[in-house]
Amino acid sequence: MSRNIQSVRGMNDILPDEAELWERFEEIVRSWLKGYGYRPIRLPIVEPTPLFSRAIGEVTDIVEKEMYSFVDSLNGEPLTLRPEGTAGCVRAVIQHSLAGERPQRLYYTGPMFRHERPQKGRYRQFHQVGVEAFGFAGPDVDAEHILMGARLWDDLGLDGIRLEINTLGQAEERARHRAELITYFEANAELLDEDARRRLHSNPLRILDTKNPAMQELVAAAPKLIDHLGPESLAHFEGVQQILRDVGIPYTINPRLVRGLDYYNLTVFEWVTDRLGAQGTVCAGGRYDGLVGQLGGKATPACGFAMGVERLLALISDAGGVPAPVAVDAYIVHQGDAASRLAPRVAEGLRDQGLDVLLHCGGGSFKSQMKKADASAAPFAIIIGDDEANAGEVSLKPLRDGGEQKRIGVDLLADAIIQCLLDDEDES
Ligand code: ATP
Ligand code: MG
Repeated sequence: MSRNIQSVRGMNDILPDEAELWERFEEIVRSWLKGYGYRPIRLPIVEPTPLFSRAIGEVTDIVEKEMYSFVDSLNGEPLTLRPEGTAGCVRAVIQHSLAGERPQRLYYTGPMFRHERPQKGRYRQFHQVGVEAFGFAGPDVDAEHILMGARLWDDLGLDGIRLEINTLGQAEERARHRAELITYFEANAELLDEDARRRLHSNPLRILDTKNPAMQELVAAAPKLIDHLGPESLAHFEGVQQILRDVGIPYTINPRLVRGLDYYNLTVFEWVTDRLGAQGTVCAGGRYDGLVGQLGGKATPACGFAMGVERLLALISDAGGVPAPVAVDAYIVHQGDAASRLAPRVAEGLRDQGLDVLLHCGGGSFKSQMKKADASAAPFAIIIGDDEANAGEVSLKPLRDGGEQKRIGVDLLADAIIQCLLDDEDES
């Protein structure tokens, strides 16, 4: 017999126990975004490949080796499963002239795809919540995005996530720094690894981001961009920091924070934890004033950030924040012809009143059905035999706190359950 088909490596099923935690997370995230006036945008998962090579940069890890790209067999168009959301969001903003008249605060959530080596916190299909703001040039929005992170960690009950910030200045400033970096690395060519040698002339800034322990000393002593920044870039960076200090958000400046995507300028930031091993960055973002113009739109200042949902959920689970399985209010067991015809009507009637109900399906003895009712964690079983059904009644049995089972008319059932649930709430 052939082996059963498995999911694609690095692309995971999210089973009900875990998926309930995802939904709780999504509820918290939605109400948090509403609290800052951000509006949803829903974007395609597949985009034309040139969108990503132009937006993210040809000489980046993502475009060089992580994209799931293919040719549409019907028309030969090169397509890619989105590896991140900003490029598609900018495309949509341009295509629908969203940011022309007034600024926009937008967010999206959903799966992203990167062909990486799967490990804890690193998957080939993973999920992001992305936040973008278009049409704001000042440091106030950069700071808003950072403050949003701080509040969300709090809303999620997470601590130990620290903030690192940096500034990448503007293109001309980076060009001066880049020239000096190349000179420095050339003078130390024997210390460069293969990756760094390859990047030396294409993207030397990315060498600063190396994870190779043998190169850390070299990289730490490299020329710093901040020494090449003009007064405007410095003022923007100071503006962000001023707001962080005013609101009391601790941060460290990490001059080696350069981000793996080419579109950033001025502010960049990451939220990092030590609790997830090497995959410690849970959220990252920054300003990308050039991107809208670069993709053919009218020059529009912009900034944004994205967080890794799997990494945040891993932190939440580690912190013991897994909620109990969501229980329904009542489980209906039934046996006999009249009872089995009444049961779906009872269930629908209770749902009309706003109650959550599991209707037993698949038959079986009362005893085996009652076992399922117990396992469901519902506070009530509703028992219907032909006896009850013929009298237009059911038996209501509290399952949790040892109350008496009693017969009750079908039309009084919803009120009785609601009353008991309210009484329980008052007691607890
Ligand atoms: P890393 O350095 O960990 O590869 P990155 O710089 O490539 O991250 P971004 O493109 O900034 O990541 O994406 C934002 C966030 O999305 C990351 O901080 C991380 O939380 C999450 N993320 C990125 N790639 C993956 C992945 N393959 N699996 C799970 N989460 C990911
Ligand atoms: Mg990466």
